Amino acid sequence: MTEKLFYEDLYAREFDAEVINQAEHDGKFFVTLDKTLFYPGGGGQPCDLGFIDDVEVLEVMEDGENIIHVLNSEIKNKNVHGVLNWDRRFELMQQHLGEHIFAGMLYNLHGLHTARMRIEGDNVSIDVDSDVGEDVIFEAESAANEAVWKNIPVEILYPSMDEVKKFARKLPPEKSTQPIRIVKIEGVDYVPCCGVHVNSTGQAGLIKITSFENHKGGKRIYLKSGKAAYRWVKSVYDEVRKAESELVCGYEGINEKILNLKTQIHNLKITNENNTERFLKPIAENLLKSDSKIIRHVMKNSTQDEIKILFRLITEMNHEVSAMLANVDENSGGVFLMFGCNRENKNFDVRPAFKKAIEILNGKGGGSSFSCQGFGKGDINSALDEAEKILR
Ligand SMILES: [Zn+2]
Repeated sequence: MTEKLFYEDLYAREFDAEVINQAEHDGKFFVTLDKTLFYPGGGGQPCDLGFIDDVEVLEVMEDGENIIHVLNSEIKNKNVHGVLNWDRRFELMQQHLGEHIFAGMLYNLHGLHTARMRIEGDNVSIDVDSDVGEDVIFEAESAANEAVWKNIPVEILYPSMDEVKKFARKLPPEKSTQPIRIVKIEGVDYVPCCGVHVNSTGQAGLIKITSFENHKGGKRIYLKSGKAAYRWVKSVYDEVRKAESELVCGYEGINEKILNLKTQIHNLKITNENNTERFLKPIAENLLKSDSKIIRHVMKNSTQDEIKILFRLITEMNHEVSAMLANVDENSGGVFLMFGCNRENKNFDVRPAFKKAIEILNGKGGGSSFSCQGFGKGDINSALDEAEKILR
């Protein structure tokens, strides 16, 4: 049986212990100590990492009464010294308490239950079992930070089951036979939890919601606390500063500047389309002068948009024809193909002809009976000759 030193002193970073068992499996060593500071993980919190006698601890897990440390090489001594990766552990304790405070506020303010909590790297997520609005989420975030500033101590209690049932935000698993460990923050939260946490709300630091999404009829909320929250705020600010510099404004002006740019881009697109149409219209009219039901035209070094506009003009001006249009990029030798007709015209199915042409061009593409597009490379004239035979 391993003595759980991590519950006795949450801030201890090093310890001495005795090896009571060591087993090798697949090149890894599974070491059981008589006592340990390494938290084995649980309740959504990952396990601690660090070193035992200069051998790196890869994973820690609970096996009944024992705690097993997984190492990649053998421990030589019977008496060993363990050292936690303290920065990692402290951040996990901050993140975990931050989650308790936030979940406690959701419960206190709106009676909301959180189903699942998970800490993965810098990311903490919790699932709320009802579809809460963002006003509720940010109200709880604000209340959680108020609780941080009050610097309320965290108490660990082992009360009777009656008390647990009376006060707890959620109940422990039914089959639990051990005394129920309650993490209590006066006025904020009272919940069963096996995890390790910082010992006052102040140490959780900033609690910040970073995003939320719909999840199984409820919401999955992502939040960060302490150092992880600080890192996130810093990275967001770094991005904001780049935008400020590009847009030549303070952060308050970024949104307005972006909206203005979007309007400008939209207007330019319309102007550009009108100009393109103006220059392509005579080409379309000229192509439609022939009596042929098949309009065939190859452009050079045009854009895809230009081909698409020419296609639209031809098939709008004459509903009876089908068009085989191509653009050849003389630099790369690449070909953009567009075959089709007016969508009201049921006399044509351009797919077999398009398929033949794109095959000859070793290309890829597809579409519907009245519109196909694709890319290839090769002799465009022989591809169109073969396609035209099929279309006739
Ligand atoms: Zn917890």
